[in-house]
Amino acid sequence: MPKRRQAKEIWCGTRRRVLERDGYECVRCRVPVGERTAHIDHIKSGKLATNEMSNLRALCRRCHVLRADGRHRGMTAKALRDGIIPANWRELVWEG
Ligand SMILES: [Zn+2]
Repeated sequence: MPKRRQAKEIWCGTRRRVLERDGYECVRCRVPVGERTAHIDHIKSGKLATNEMSNLRALCRRCHVLRADGRHRGMTAKALRDGIIPANWRELVWEG
């Protein structure tokens, strides 16, 4: 997540535009995602993060959690509990 978050109303619009552009699919595994289930990923996160369309993409929860980005680790425990990722999730981590 970038340091500066967009105001909620603006972010909702950005989110929808990203989903429309990406065809309401996870750009990695092509599973369908909806407005409520999609995760909007910041391709460059941390200091380099922007909320430009070019830095955003739609992911499913599983791909988002498994992305090799230390900032996502907070989601791992809950995803494990929810059965979104298997116990050997470390083998499934991806970069990009
Ligand atoms: Zn996915």
